[in-house]
Amino acid sequence: MRTHKIAAIPGDGIGVEVVDASLEVLDVLASRDGSFALDVEHFDWGTDRYKKTGAFMPADGADQLRAFDAILFGAVGAPDVADHLTLWGLRLAICQPLDQYANVRPTRVLPGIRSPLRHVEGPELDWVIVRENSEGEYAGQGGRSHPGLPLEIATDVSIFTRAGVERIMRFAFRLAQSRPRKLLTVVTKSNAQRHGMVLWDQIAAEVARDFPDVTWDKMLVDAMTVRMTLKPGSLDTIVATNLHADILSDLAAALAGSIGVAPTANLNPERETPSMFEPIHGSAFDITGKGIANPVATFWTAAMMLDHLGEKPASERLMHAVETVTADPALHTPDLGGKATTRDVTDAMISAIRGRND
Ligand code: NAD
Ligand code: MN
Repeated sequence: MRTHKIAAIPGDGIGVEVVDASLEVLDVLASRDGSFALDVEHFDWGTDRYKKTGAFMPADGADQLRAFDAILFGAVGAPDVADHLTLWGLRLAICQPLDQYANVRPTRVLPGIRSPLRHVEGPELDWVIVRENSEGEYAGQGGRSHPGLPLEIATDVSIFTRAGVERIMRFAFRLAQSRPRKLLTVVTKSNAQRHGMVLWDQIAAEVARDFPDVTWDKMLVDAMTVRMTLKPGSLDTIVATNLHADILSDLAAALAGSIGVAPTANLNPERETPSMFEPIHGSAFDITGKGIANPVATFWTAAMMLDHLGEKPASERLMHAVETVTADPALHTPDLGGKATTRDVTDAMISAIRGRND
């Protein structure tokens, strides 16, 4: 029996609700499959810990995670703690030292879910957004000076390195090549941001020579929002910077029906360190504790994790169960316009997994 060591970090708010639901489903899936087991260790890292100890995770937190095969993360953020503290104190404090530089965000309209775009039928919107996950505006460089004075200055320096851009570009071209349409759109803002973004364009053209079978084009990020909305079928694989892809992927999630169904993987593609899997949404304190968080994003996230761990049949079974559940409007949570609870959706997932005999 194969055993995978999983670090579960539910975090805050609905992160806890959706990770609990997913672990329950994964447990049923593993026993149903019989050929693998998940050895799950729970970490109580998050805002409560910060309030008690002054730190979201221990100083050697990222090193502790190196012993695991994968990390399942919920969300971090609380109404009474500044968002930049929570983001830098936990999520980025894991992604950056573990060099999870490729953030992969698949988006498609699942069966039974309607895109808010009137003209879109399901299959037309089927994208994978690749977010550069280590550089750009999230490199942590910058500062403030002259506090309170009229000449107070605040900078967030956007850093791009040849090595950093080239590795994400190669990853994106490889991913585009593995998909049926072999289509890649490189998103920048190289008209206004004339250094880092011009480097992106240049490296895209260089890397493209190694992928002659991939058709690629370039878009400016502002025009990209228009194309995503009006011509979703013209896109397939998309690569963009940390900031641009962060924004575009929330738009993508909304166009696919709800941020409550959007998954993501923070990958170290070379597998030198464990990768981290999480829904793209946050801790959603407006609905925390109400039992109505949509767990589908985290179920899909868990399927990506199983795929990464080499458990392809189990990953496919999990995605099949997700699609069975979304196809039934009675199992839609309020974010999708329905009345179902997290519990209802989780129970239906478990039945769908138990029911299959192939
Ligand atoms: P959010 O994603 O938490 O919520 C945005 C809206 O979408 C809310 O109305 C929420 O109720 C809804 N929503 C999100 N996930 C849902 C789900 N699974 N089911 C149903 N509805 C869902 O974003 P926000 O409100 O901007 O941020 C809340 C907190 O989360 C902040 O502290 C923020 O910093 C943090 N955050 C954390 C992460 C992360 O941990 N990766 C990501 C984004 C935001
Ligand atoms: Mn985001």
